[in-house]
Amino acid sequence: MKKSTLTGKILIGLFLGFIFGISLKHIPSSYIKDTVILDGFLKILGNGFTAAIKMMVVPLVFVSLICGTASMGDVKKLGRIGGKTMLFYLLTTAIAIIIALFLGIMLKPGEGLDMSNMMSGEVAIGEAKSLVDIILNIIPTNPIQSLANGEMLQVIFFALLTGVALNIVGKNAEPIKVIFESANEVCMKMVNLIMLFAPYGVFALVANTFATVGSEAIIALLKYILVVLLGMIIHVTMVYGGLFKIFAKQSIKPFLSKFARVAAVTFSTASSNASVPVSLEIMEELGVGKTTRSFTIPMGATINMDGTAIMQGVAALFIAQIYGIDLGVNSMITIVLTATLASIGTAGVPGVGMIMLSMVLTSVGLPLEGIGLIMGVERIIDMFRTTVNVMGDNIVTLIIANSEKDLNLDEYNNKIKERI
Ligand code: ASP
Repeated sequence: MKKSTLTGKILIGLFLGFIFGISLKHIPSSYIKDTVILDGFLKILGNGFTAAIKMMVVPLVFVSLICGTASMGDVKKLGRIGGKTMLFYLLTTAIAIIIALFLGIMLKPGEGLDMSNMMSGEVAIGEAKSLVDIILNIIPTNPIQSLANGEMLQVIFFALLTGVALNIVGKNAEPIKVIFESANEVCMKMVNLIMLFAPYGVFALVANTFATVGSEAIIALLKYILVVLLGMIIHVTMVYGGLFKIFAKQSIKPFLSKFARVAAVTFSTASSNASVPVSLEIMEELGVGKTTRSFTIPMGATINMDGTAIMQGVAALFIAQIYGIDLGVNSMITIVLTATLASIGTAGVPGVGMIMLSMVLTSVGLPLEGIGLIMGVERIIDMFRTTVNVMGDNIVTLIIANSEKDLNLDEYNNKIKERI
């Protein structure tokens, strides 16, 4: 209830920001317009909101990733299923982001819109590092320094290792685990509080964009949405469809008829977490055993975010294009790595993918101001990407269950004859 009110408010902020920005553009330059409104009021609201989002990146990634890994349960017992599932989840996410980068390069959604004059900070692009250096750099020599400097890959590495160790140590690590879990809850609350400010932030960011850039931004945004959607369609049909055919060797129809129920939840809530109960329910109805489904579905909701990765890949290129920044091969590799790992740290609740995007952008030195523009269409994209995120969890669950002989094929195939 509260969430939909906030979404409504964000959409109103977006709409009013659009109207206000376009009107402002047609008013001649004056002290009030330039200094008071554009550089004062709108900048404080818009940049304040972006700064608040940035503020949460390091604590949220660090804490949520530790909790995610630490809650995987008895690693030894679940080792085999866990390893296989993890492999599928990470592999599909990496493929998703490669598709996104490919489409972003080929279709150039940001072309035609020039925002390079709106960049505030310096852009740290270009120091070409070798692949070996990039990989070696992931291991932080001083994790505290990495946290302080916001070096995300290093923070992720340290957090993953901490989570795994907490898991292995078990009982004796319980006090630390509890602290991280509670810190995670506090961080999520902070994100919720910041999101309350989103309607105003979105209003200011969108108004500023349209006042300074004008209507070519609308076309660019439409292109951005279309490229993201195209990436998702390709991923769902080719990657999920292909993997399912190769590994599950069953008709996908029974699954699709049941998935409609899950999609209704993901569309209305934009939250993977919220969809867990329905996913578990349809997996049971499709004949997936408890051992598999109770492990892979919650794990997927926590760490598998293919739709989010597609958004991040397209968004990174979109932002690079509108700011006229050339991303080299090394930056692309860094984006694939960061976004794949970021999906592990992306909580399955609305909007977190966007916060993680700022981490992906930071990792290759792209300006965070670009988020302002795509923030306007964030919720619509979130609804779609969450649906793809959860579809990935379901597909991988069916594949793993089949490979573990934990899928009742009679039950699965009988569903063809049943109605939803
Ligand atoms: N809303 C997404 C999910 O729950 C996460 C995100 O990309 O913001 O899966």
